[in-house]
Amino acid sequence: MSDMLKFTDTSQQYPEVRDAGKRNHDFDEIYTQFDPKQAAVQASRCSQCGVPFCQIHCPLSNNIPDWLRLTAEGRLEEAYAISSATNTFPEICGRICPQDRLCEGNCVIEKGFQSVTIGSVEKYITETAFENGWVKPITVNSESGFSVGIIGAGPAGLAAADILRRHGHDVHVYDRYDRVGGLLMYGIPNFKLEKHVVLRRHHLLKEGGIHFHLNCDIGNQVTLDELRKKHNAVLIATGVYKSREIEVPDYSLENIIPALEYLTTSNRKGLGDKVAAFDNGSLNAEGKEVVVIGGGDTAMDCVRTAVRQGAKKVTCLYRRDRANMPGSSREVKNAEEEGVQFMWLSAPKAFAGNKKVSQILTQRMRLVTHDTSGRQAVVAVEGEQFTVSADMVIKALGFDAEDLPVMFNAPELKTTRYGTLDINHQTFMTNLPGVFAAGDIVHGASLVVWAIRDGRDAADAMHHYIITNAKRSKAA
Ligand SMILES: Cc1cc2nc3c(=O)[nH]c(=O)nc-3n(C[C@H](O)[C@H](O)[C@H](O)COP(=O)(O)OP(=O)(O)OC[C@H]3O[C@@H](n4cnc5c(N)ncnc54)[C@H](O)[C@@H]3O)c2cc1C
Repeated sequence: MSDMLKFTDTSQQYPEVRDAGKRNHDFDEIYTQFDPKQAAVQASRCSQCGVPFCQIHCPLSNNIPDWLRLTAEGRLEEAYAISSATNTFPEICGRICPQDRLCEGNCVIEKGFQSVTIGSVEKYITETAFENGWVKPITVNSESGFSVGIIGAGPAGLAAADILRRHGHDVHVYDRYDRVGGLLMYGIPNFKLEKHVVLRRHHLLKEGGIHFHLNCDIGNQVTLDELRKKHNAVLIATGVYKSREIEVPDYSLENIIPALEYLTTSNRKGLGDKVAAFDNGSLNAEGKEVVVIGGGDTAMDCVRTAVRQGAKKVTCLYRRDRANMPGSSREVKNAEEEGVQFMWLSAPKAFAGNKKVSQILTQRMRLVTHDTSGRQAVVAVEGEQFTVSADMVIKALGFDAEDLPVMFNAPELKTTRYGTLDINHQTFMTNLPGVFAAGDIVHGASLVVWAIRDGRDAADAMHHYIITNAKRSKAA
């Protein structure tokens, strides 16, 4: 412990990353795991600073210095207890949080000394906890007698379900998919997050008494109104799924496909499902020249999936430059190692081809002043255009909310001008009494760690609402 109260002289080390030449041929996670000695040594690099910026910049306010100290001292069961006290899925955050932008990016020793490898230690702690049986299903001392309905089994819905069950409520989670996890299951590829990690949590939540109703599309099979009548409170955690379009000539040619359709197909195939669109080649990059348009995490997942499917060539077209990319720089580096070519400051101007896309007319862009998001805006460079050949184009330009008032046949449900749900940010309640919302459907496309935070906070607000209502009805 005394070693930690000073700047470290131990160098930074991440767990070994599988060699690009080997990992390009499979969908297994690319990072290996620390062994106990490496984990203790790397955790001991923490300076235990008085104002822990890592914790401040973690959306879950994870007590990072404490679990680093406990790991350095080999007290892993206590480390897990502390890490899981604020995070429902530390094994998932350890793998896919953009730590370079959150905790690690704000580590005091980051500047010049290289940050503590917080995410890798978090993954090590949680995997050790699972191996040793320290991760237990929820046990409820007394049932509250109240029931809750949650629409959406993504990280926001699952985190809320966990907290509400701990309060003793009868929790029912409804999802239109056949498996839980939302984008953890069908969006994020296996090489970032292996699916057994998500399924393991699903089993634990089920063992803890949470009821799952899968293949259940709320709005089509069951109405929101029916759920409101059945439960004391309802949470909407349906995420955002409407792909943004590219409004350029000939964007409806064949083989121009939305990112999520492509990734879902690939993930389903990896899970052993029969997927016609993959088997008949329409959503399979094998042997093709693939161009992915976009610069976020989704675009990086698409280019790297295409590499693994055996594409002939994979190019990422992005209208800004590397420094202004919204995705994690770690993922860009991984993609480059895997052979992806990046065309910075390049935007599609038109597609061309005979029925199927064969070329993209591309416009050279240049950076100008910063826009409201803090990134530099771009304008076209007059007269600088070129063509890029492609026989598969994947659009990864972001997602908007579906029209929820229509989907739920609830025209009175209030939305923002972005189509996301308009909630009271203190109570997490929508304008419909007893109907709450959390995750991407409130904030727009964001991060898993924010969805978890939101789900946990919404669950506490729902518990307060249920108990206060019950007291009121008793008093009346
Ligand atoms: C390709 C991709 C890669 C990403 N990579 C990362 C990453 O590396 N790190 C990171 O932190 N974040 C990443 N994200 C973002 C992250 O996945 C999301 O922010 C997060 O999953 C949002 O959680 P959520 O619970 O709000 O919604 P979701 O995960 O979208 O879950 C919503 C659930 O609601 C269900 N649903 C929707 N409508 C209905 C209905 N009518 N009836 C029943 N069920 C319904 C859906 O089936 C789904 O299961 C990525 C996103 C994408 C698309």
